[in-house]
Amino acid sequence: MELFDSHTHVDMRHFKNDRARVIQRAKDAGLIGMVTSSIGSASFRRTLGIVEKHQGFVHHSAGCGVSQLTLEEAEKIVALTRKYSTDIVAVGEVGLDYHWVKDTQGRKNQEPLFQMFIELAKELDLPIVIHSRKAEAEATEILEKNFSGDVLMHCFDGPPSVAKQVADNGWYITLPANFGKYRNRKDAAEILPLDQILLETDGPYLSPTPERNEPANILYGIESLSKLLDLSDEDVAQATTQNALKFYRL
Ligand SMILES: [Zn+2]
Repeated sequence: MELFDSHTHVDMRHFKNDRARVIQRAKDAGLIGMVTSSIGSASFRRTLGIVEKHQGFVHHSAGCGVSQLTLEEAEKIVALTRKYSTDIVAVGEVGLDYHWVKDTQGRKNQEPLFQMFIELAKELDLPIVIHSRKAEAEATEILEKNFSGDVLMHCFDGPPSVAKQVADNGWYITLPANFGKYRNRKDAAEILPLDQILLETDGPYLSPTPERNEPANILYGIESLSKLLDLSDEDVAQATTQNALKFYRL
């Protein structure tokens, strides 16, 4: 079985002491690659070094920490992404966060920053990975109006109505390895065709085990999805890995 982790954060401090071993464990578990998402300018620079060390296995998607993003930081990320664009597979995660940002003005302020990254993805002809926590419908509306490239709704947790829109738009979603615990995510897994579904760990977050999450845990996602769709692990692994390679143009 060839597996792929479509969204993780291996640059984070959680992996500081054993990153090489974590990446080796991923290989041992059958992964043929992973996409690590940087979430700021410092994270971007760290990720460059990691990708260099693990060329062909770890790929870089350049995004931001949506809930705390400032204009200054967004501009730094945009400049770095332009500079290193040939080493980057996608713009993202970028988008809207209504989970941590609850006031109307704060939410509104995220929109022009989101728009900057949409323009960047267009300019560089890169696919875009969307963070849309509690803002799936709003992010979908903005993208429908402003972006015609490939879209991946990362860790999708929207209601079935939005899942249908995402499916109809031909966009992709990723489900985290522990998605079986979430009603919306299980519904989305049944609403979207399998060729629009990718799997991710979002490690170190969203662990399916009591420990820190890591790319090797993508296996848990395969098992949950194959059970839900009544398919073999092999079929689910093959489909989700192919979808990831296609979306990220690898
Ligand atoms: Zn993430």
